[in-house]
Formats: sequence, C-alpha cells, structure tokens
Amino acid sequence: MIQYSPITEEIRSRIVHELGGDCIVDDADAKKVYDRDASELRFSPELVVRVQDSDQVSRLLKLANQYRFPVIPRGGGSGLAGGCLPVLGGVVLSLERMNRILSVDTANLVAEVQAGAITQTLRDAIQKKSLFFPPDPAGMDQSTIGGNAATNAGGPSCVKYGTTKDYVLGLEAVLPNGRPIRTGTRTRKGVVGYDLTHLLIGSEGTLGVITGLTLKLIPLPRAVAGTSALFTSLPSAMQAVTEVLSKGHLPSAIEFLDAKCLALVGDLLPFDVPGQTSALLIIEVDGAPQQVDNEINVIQQICHEIGAAHLLPASDPEQRRQIWEVRRQVSLRIHDNSALYISEDVAVPIAHISALVADLPKFEKQYGFKIYAFGHAGDGNIHLNITSQTRNHLDRVEKGVAAILSRVIQLDGTISGEHGIGEAKKKYLPMELSAESIRLQKEIKKVFDPNMILNPGKIFP
Ligand SMILES: Cc1cc2nc3c(=O)[nH]c(=O)nc-3n(C[C@H](O)[C@H](O)[C@H](O)COP(=O)(O)OP(=O)(O)OC[C@H]3O[C@@H](n4cnc5c(N)ncnc54)[C@H](O)[C@@H]3O)c2cc1C
Repeated sequence: MIQYSPITEEIRSRIVHELGGDCIVDDADAKKVYDRDASELRFSPELVVRVQDSDQVSRLLKLANQYRFPVIPRGGGSGLAGGCLPVLGGVVLSLERMNRILSVDTANLVAEVQAGAITQTLRDAIQKKSLFFPPDPAGMDQSTIGGNAATNAGGPSCVKYGTTKDYVLGLEAVLPNGRPIRTGTRTRKGVVGYDLTHLLIGSEGTLGVITGLTLKLIPLPRAVAGTSALFTSLPSAMQAVTEVLSKGHLPSAIEFLDAKCLALVGDLLPFDVPGQTSALLIIEVDGAPQQVDNEINVIQQICHEIGAAHLLPASDPEQRRQIWEVRRQVSLRIHDNSALYISEDVAVPIAHISALVADLPKFEKQYGFKIYAFGHAGDGNIHLNITSQTRNHLDRVEKGVAAILSRVIQLDGTISGEHGIGEAKKKYLPMELSAESIRLQKEIKKVFDPNMILNPGKIFP
C-alpha cells in the first residue's frame, strides 16, 4: 500500500507559489461542492485547485510526484461512479475554468476545445454553424467534454452515431509526470504509432489530465421525427426494438422506460399513459425531411404489428423537448424517491435485453429491492436503478447487485456501458476481466504513473 503525504502547510504554500493563490479553494464550505459527484459517494478533498491552463496542471503534477500526494482530475462532477472523488485524500484538480471553445473549423469539420467546456454549450455552439457533435449523455448540461472523453460517455444517439471516442481525433494532455503530450491528428484518418488518444479515452483520469480536445464534427441532420410507443408488455417493447433494427432502420435514438419509471414521471409526459402500460419506447430518426417522415411511419407500423397499444407522433420540437425532459428527469426522481439508490448501467446484446428484463422481478423478490429500468434500448445499455426505502440491508442489496451483474455477463453483456468503474464498481471488475487483463492494465498504469499520484485507488480492486 502506497503511503501518500497529507497536504501539509509546506505543500500548500509550494502550490500557491507555483500556481498562484487565486486557483486555490480551501474554504470548508466552498470545498463541499467537490466532495461529491452524482453517485452516493462522498469524500472530502484536502485542497481544490481550479487550473486555468495546462502549465498549471504540469506544475501541480510535478509537485505531486515530489511530495507524493494524490491529484484527482474533475470536470463537471456529474459522474455516477465516484471517479472524480479523492478516495485517498489529496488535491482535486478542477478543469472548470478551462472551458473555452477555441475554434470551430467549418471547412474541415473540426473543433478545438478546452477540456472543461460544458458538453451542452459545445453542442449548441456547433449547431449554430449547422454542424453536429452527436454524443449526448443525459447529464450534458453539467458534464464537461474532458469528463466525457475520460469516461467515453455516450447517450441516446449512440445507437446510430457511437460514443465520445468516435468523435475525438486528438488530445492535449498532461501526463502524471507533469509533461505535456499531444496525441492523435487533426485529420479523419491517422495510424502513426500506438493509438494513445484512445488509450486515454475511457481511462477515467488515471493515465493523464486531458486539457484540450480536437473533435470530429459532422453535418447537422436537416430534420428529426419521433414517435412514442406504449406497450402493455415490456418484452413486446423489446421485440419492437430488435424488429426495427433488423428490418434495416437505424434510428438516432431508441430509449425505453419501464412501468415503474412511468408511474414516477408519467405526469410530466405530453400525453396520457393508460394504467395497463408496461413500457414506453421513444424512437427518433434524423436525416433529410422527406426520408425521416417516411421512415418514422414505417417504424410506427412495425411497433403496431408487434402490439403497441398507442402510438404518438412527436414531430414538433416542443413535444420532442418535453419528452426528452421527462427521460432526463427519470433518474433524478428515482434518486429523490429512494433512501438507497444504486445506479447500474449494464449493457447486453440487444437480442438479450428481453431475457435480462424478464429476470428482474426474480431479483427484486430474492434480494428485497425495487428496480427501475430505463435507458438506451437501441444499444442494449439498460440503466438498472436499484432502490430501497431503507439502507439497513446493504449486504443483501450488494449480493443482489452482484447476482444481476453475473447474469449480465452470462448474457454476453458488460457491467458498465458508459458510466465507468471509478470507485463504485471496482469490486466487480474481476467478474468481467480476466486476471491477465487486469495485470496488463495495472502495468500500463505503472508506465504512465510510476508514483501512482494520478487518481489513485480507482478502477482496480
Ligand atoms: C442525470 C445524469 C444523466 C447521465 N446520463 C449519462 C448518459 O446518458 N451517458 C453517460 O455516458 N453518462 C451519463 N451520466 C454520467 C456523467 O454525466 C458522465 O460520466 C460524464 O461523462 C462525466 O463528465 P464530468 O465532466 O461530469 O466528469 P466528472 O464526473 O468530473 O469525472 C468523471 C471521471 O472523469 C475524470 N475526468 C474528468 N475530467 C477529466 C479530464 N479533463 N482529464 C482527465 N480525467 C478527467 C475524473 O477523474 C473521473 O474519473 C449521467 C449523469 C447524470 C447526473
């Protein structure tokens, strides 16, 4: 076990001397914002440093190696796995001030941004130039683009457009030893050397601090059309998902909410939800105006044939906005209504979604919790929100979580589709990865960070 230094008065004054005093937050109240993310975990930082440029990041990391204290990169703090929390103490390095969109190059369809830019702000700015940055994680009004890259975030559009990694051409980062590095290219293609860009992406702040990103943009689709389909059985909703995809359609979103979620947020929907409804599918297609109208009609027909009880077109932007707001509100309402809230974001091959959701009542009964299921049905990434009105039986709940994850792996799935491992899920890592894979990954970590100062204690049990 590595012994880390606490942040002594000497270290604090060296940081002030090297970086300047105005980036330091060490007032207890102001630091409270940084002791949490969107998970249930809480760890107080000894000190928070809000950097303004990558040179400050370098200086901080050099001091961390000299004095051996942990540094934990933090973007918007919207993570759901405790990845940005100082579990072993140390300095939280906030990128929130490095939030500029440096350029949007409409000729080459490339944007240069600082890592702390808020995802929604970036998408809006790009959209104004009729360009599109597809990754749309539901927490994007809070998350940063650097955090999205560090977790390889994805959202509803993943089914058609992929995740953050598919839109990052290159990175500027500071390695744990304090040296800056530029990875990747500004071109669509590039195969020179190992792909360090995609090694840093998804590394959850353990291999380097991302300070800037070169992003690939695509033309903004000219039209979007949507439909909401209500089903009286969850398996038939899932069958509709596979039918739509296997019949050659590629929607830009296929989301679902189960009956429990609908009971919580149904009142916010712009239509009535009949009592016997078991699942809602939200399907959108994008592209040329004529094409999206035709395609959404065919998709509605497929849903009807599979047994959709109600089909509600959502073509005007206000209706679509309302429906997406409801989808966004689900996890917040579940969280607010439960004494215990564990968010699992498993993914299974889409043909296995039905088998997984069919097993959920069995797990609820056996382990005494309530599961709200919703998420990205189009790519099999199901959010299982495991809740209880008491925190008294945590052991039993954890056994139940492990049993569900084991079933997911049996179904050829993965224990995390997008939230990452961080602190919250590291005990489950060996369920999915072999000992050899974990050994190799730990060796990679050592090459990048021999003194283990960058976000220590994360990912690996
Ligand atoms: C309501 C809600 C809905 C969500 N929906 C989705 C969803 O649909 N899809 C999805 O993928 N996620 C979702 N999330 C989770 C979260 O928004 C993502 O994980 C997001 O990518 C985190 O970004 P952040 O800037 O908030 O990172 P943080 O929470 O600050 O950090 C997350 C991890 O990234 C590291 N990190 C952050 N910035 C950097 C950097 N510049 N350099 C190196 N490492 C860094 C941290 O150390 C940490 O390990 C949701 C969260 C909420 C609250």
